[in-house]
Amino acid sequence: MKYQVDANGFYGNYGGSYVPEILYKTVEDLKEAYLPIIESDEFKQEFHTLLRDYVGRPSPLYFARRMSERYGCHLYLKREDLNHTGAHKINNSLGQILIAKKMGKTRIIAETGAGQHGVATATACALMDMPCTVYMGATDVERQRPNVERMKMLGAEVCPVYSGNKTLKDATNEAIRDWCCHPSDTFYIIGSTVGPHPYPDLVARLQSVISEELKWQLEEKTGRTWPDYLIACVGGGSNAAGTIYHFLDNENVRIVLAEAGGKGIDTYMTAASMEIGTTGILHGSRIKLMQTDDGQIVEPYSISAGLDYPGTGPIHCHLYESGRARVLAVNDDEALAAALELTRTEGIIPALESAHALGVLPKMKFNPDDVVVLTVSGRGDKDMITYLKYFNG
Ligand SMILES: *Cc1c(COP(=O)(O)O)cnc(C)c1O
Repeated sequence: MKYQVDANGFYGNYGGSYVPEILYKTVEDLKEAYLPIIESDEFKQEFHTLLRDYVGRPSPLYFARRMSERYGCHLYLKREDLNHTGAHKINNSLGQILIAKKMGKTRIIAETGAGQHGVATATACALMDMPCTVYMGATDVERQRPNVERMKMLGAEVCPVYSGNKTLKDATNEAIRDWCCHPSDTFYIIGSTVGPHPYPDLVARLQSVISEELKWQLEEKTGRTWPDYLIACVGGGSNAAGTIYHFLDNENVRIVLAEAGGKGIDTYMTAASMEIGTTGILHGSRIKLMQTDDGQIVEPYSISAGLDYPGTGPIHCHLYESGRARVLAVNDDEALAAALELTRTEGIIPALESAHALGVLPKMKFNPDDVVVLTVSGRGDKDMITYLKYFNG
């Protein structure tokens, strides 16, 4: 239990709920409501039926034979890339929209970076017939065109944000501003294990279906319910949190997290906030973030829009600080090489975010009988323009 959230919403020194007065009651209401709802039989039934029949779960656990030979271990890939809408984000959006409906909310807002969370939320809103507004940095609107068109076709209103770096942090600020104006009727579907308590815990629980499935899938394939290693990429931390959730208290399971090194952690063109960040408060939570000495946010950089955030959620800050998880920065070029390697050895084109998890493999030294599970958080369709630019000169 020592890695789970405490009664005050903290993971060790991180987390909490730092919200403006006007949102206090809204966040408090969610805090009261979320556990009774997600533990109810009615919710479990609805959520799991959707995950099975709509998302296509369980996602396969695939033994990657050629990659295993290359890295001298038994490498299994958890295929979140095969989910409806192409990533793990849909698990969370469907869970939160069910909660929103049960709380009587009538309008959904969301922020998005690469557009994956925006698409997942617009999808959930189309399915549930709820109006949907998605905030997205103007830079991301430009570099993620296909996802913008998908959201619009799904019926969502996409609002470009022109402040700051015009990326995920700025989109999140704008979503919070909207929420402050409509706290009673609007549900804010946050896309990762970030934001004020209870969001990190809520999102981790909704994504924990990943590790729930891993237990029986591993038993089927290896005769044991746990692996020696779990590897995942970390932006805000939701696919990683879902991957490790049911293994946190099993110290035989080593956890390795990949954050975006960008052009290198000593270049300032980076998003490796656990490694170079310091403690501060952003978007309602105390986390490790990239900031100047007087607390101004340093703009992050990563080739991957989904990892381009100046902080990391409180769960992973605590796992890093306590030594439970090892964190490695994977740079742009290492992620690109890893994406091409997976494509050519296994015929799977991963999302750029997931390619950062794959970029961990060359940095590791495994024993030949180690069972390694790596979560492929999403597929690479949305990143084809970037891949083409680098691989075709
Ligand atoms: C959004 C996204 C991520 C990063 O978000 P987490 O909350 O850290 O999981 C990683 N991979 C893909 C494919 C994404 O869309």
